[in-house]
Amino acid sequence: MARAHNFFAGPAVLPLPALERAQQELVDWAGTGTSIMETSHRSKEYEAVHNEAIALIREFLSLGENYHVLFLGGGASLQFAMVPMNLLAPDQTADYVHTGTWSKKAIAEAKLFGRVNVAFDGETVGLTRIPRQEELKLTPGARYVHITSNNTIKGTQWHAFPETAGVPLVADMSSDFLWRAFDPKPFGLIYVGAQKNLGPAGVTIVLIRDDILAQCKADNPTMLKYATHAKENSLFNTPPVFAIYMVRNVLAHMKEMGGMPAVEAHNRRKAGLIYETIDADPEFFRAPVDKASRSMMNIVFRLPSEELETKFVAEGKAQRMLGLKGHRSVGGIRISAYNSCPLESVEAVVGFMKAFAKANG
Ligand SMILES: *Cc1c(COP(=O)(O)O)cnc(C)c1O
Repeated sequence: MARAHNFFAGPAVLPLPALERAQQELVDWAGTGTSIMETSHRSKEYEAVHNEAIALIREFLSLGENYHVLFLGGGASLQFAMVPMNLLAPDQTADYVHTGTWSKKAIAEAKLFGRVNVAFDGETVGLTRIPRQEELKLTPGARYVHITSNNTIKGTQWHAFPETAGVPLVADMSSDFLWRAFDPKPFGLIYVGAQKNLGPAGVTIVLIRDDILAQCKADNPTMLKYATHAKENSLFNTPPVFAIYMVRNVLAHMKEMGGMPAVEAHNRRKAGLIYETIDADPEFFRAPVDKASRSMMNIVFRLPSEELETKFVAEGKAQRMLGLKGHRSVGGIRISAYNSCPLESVEAVVGFMKAFAKANG
């Protein structure tokens, strides 16, 4: 079997064992004589999968009982609106840190519900880095501070989260959730579209703290209230059962690999190999991102010309290296090396980068 080297930014590569498990269990799952897609979400077999996925997330983050783990629909994009819809009143201010394409969308939605203070406008530095603490113009007593932990398109990442003087952090962690362990306590809410780092498209993971949940507005539509889903363990309506099942398979595989410390070491090794290759040949590879803000998930760089970039993507594809093209809004090259991207794929692309530079430099 020939699996491609998959560097797509999302939907993205899944671990082969997680896919093979799904293949094996597809037509007769858990002895039910049905697939998981054909079984009631109220069955005890389904509930076991659902609760195992939640338990694994809790375990990886040592998550306190004061957090709820929810599985919702609508992607991270719905959370851009659902967060302020639930948390922000018209006379309240939320601080948003603008670091890329996705934070801009989050800001636009928040403005529909309340006051938005852009605590740092990344456009002033070309979106090439994460702000330093002293650059943040935070509002005393803000409702929350919103950040995008990893900027999937620009290739920047927060390596230390900001100090907010007790104001709860809200984070879009769609493209780096569980790339390593972190202290969840400063976070009031975290949302994650699963299709980058953790599973297939179709499910959004939300972590919400009790005190934040208690303060949510009560007059929203039932399906758009976090409280509805928290109260029913995300079984108020039919959840995306197959997507949740795949997330469970991915998380179970991560645990088998050694859990968070092993996942982090694996990710650092992979990104390190690619950045070393870039830095070793600055005549040919140009990394636009500030070194201290480099993403471990999405590695972006430029080649000497757009023609060479087109050629690089095409030759890579011919060697079964997929998804090397930068986002259409920024151009260049992007290698996404999420949790599930194997080391062999990174070794292959690094070899290709060196050979390509030699042949075209
Ligand atoms: C992909 C992405 C989104 C959008 O996710 P959808 O699930 O497509 O709505 C939002 N934020 C970040 C950081 C992303 O990478």
